[in-house]
Amino acid sequence: MTSIVVLGSGLAGLRAAEVFREKNFQGKITLVGVEPQLPYNRPPLSKQFLAGEWDEDRVRLRLPAEFHSLDLDFLKGIKVVGLDLEQRSVQLSQGTAIDFDGLVIATGAENRQLPALEGRPRVFTLRTLTEALALRQALSSAESLLIVGGGFIGAEVAATAHGLGIRVCIVEPQQTLMFRGLGKEVGSAMTNLHREKGIDVRCNTEISHVHDDGERTNIELSDRTTHTPDVILVGIGATPTTDWLSGSNVHLSNGVVCDENCRVMTADGVAVKSVVAAGDVARWFSRSQNRLVRSEHWTNAQDQAVNAAHTLLLDLNGEGGDALPYDPVPYVWSDQFGKKIQAIGFIDPADKVRIVKGALSDGKFLAIMERENRFVGAIGVAMVPLVMQARILLTEGASLDVAREKLAS
Ligand code: ADP
Repeated sequence: MTSIVVLGSGLAGLRAAEVFREKNFQGKITLVGVEPQLPYNRPPLSKQFLAGEWDEDRVRLRLPAEFHSLDLDFLKGIKVVGLDLEQRSVQLSQGTAIDFDGLVIATGAENRQLPALEGRPRVFTLRTLTEALALRQALSSAESLLIVGGGFIGAEVAATAHGLGIRVCIVEPQQTLMFRGLGKEVGSAMTNLHREKGIDVRCNTEISHVHDDGERTNIELSDRTTHTPDVILVGIGATPTTDWLSGSNVHLSNGVVCDENCRVMTADGVAVKSVVAAGDVARWFSRSQNRLVRSEHWTNAQDQAVNAAHTLLLDLNGEGGDALPYDPVPYVWSDQFGKKIQAIGFIDPADKVRIVKGALSDGKFLAIMERENRFVGAIGVAMVPLVMQARILLTEGASLDVAREKLAS
């Protein structure tokens, strides 16, 4: 019987497995996941779940009956530790190996740790459901929270904790919150929004010294203030989970390098048939950008898994030449203080920003991003229908003039 192994039980792994069954693949599918739960949805973990509004059932990606109808061999709580591309087999943490005809690598990413804070009392990170439960529990009796890192996770948790009545301070080395994702102008507007709500946002600030007494952790900042909060969250970004691939012949460079059809590349530059990657771990060749790109966003995990699964099935059938290139317009959203923040396109903090609707100071606006006189992206705050229109225009390759005219009218 033909056998497919899917590594990673997050959104990308689940979607790939679903596509195989939707396409009537009747062979064996093994889904390997290091986490103990059925596949769940991460975006609510920093929002409704952390706020206590949603329970564990509500963050499931599929109902148990739906999941079981996929007829997968689900190996949960098990880690993959190695890959032999020649033998086409993967090694698992409990010492066994599984052979495959097709393989999906969807092992995701891991939070970066801050050595000065790792293992200290009251320090948390947030990526998994288990971590979200621990943080939620800690916040339930907390009065103060210090967040290290003002990216999307930091800003979302700040807004949620503020809603729980907790005093929040964010420490961010860049000049604004969410600088990497939103750039300076929009990042500043978001920083102002957080400050207006009462969050103590400290940009251009770093941690200079840490000590603890076994009970509480004390943090001194570069602005010479000291803090002993009830809870500390470290949200300083993530790195793709590829350590288990060292020693394999897979080309690793800030992720698993893939061709434009999501096929995994070897270190010698060969695309491996029926071995694909998707989601946070995959760095694929984008035709429109003419470079390798990687995305850690929900929409990408979902869409790339579909493309990768199709490629894999075509390869298994000897029809790999029909595979379609994966080249989406990126889309990411966040919810903070009841406002939806949405960004589309491969945004670079150096892009020129033009506000075409609303005003940055109102906390309700649409910005379009320009690069070399081209329309390359848009960011909206509380502008949902207009962002959707911008997304269509960007997908169609609209010019800057057309985008400006249509979106400003
Ligand atoms: P996440 O998904 O964890 O929010 P992002 O990349 O969006 O990831 O944001 C991470 C944030 O953490 C960035 O704003 C970055 O400037 C900040 N950061 C990175 N390293 C450190 C550090 N050592 N101390 C504090 N903040 C950091």
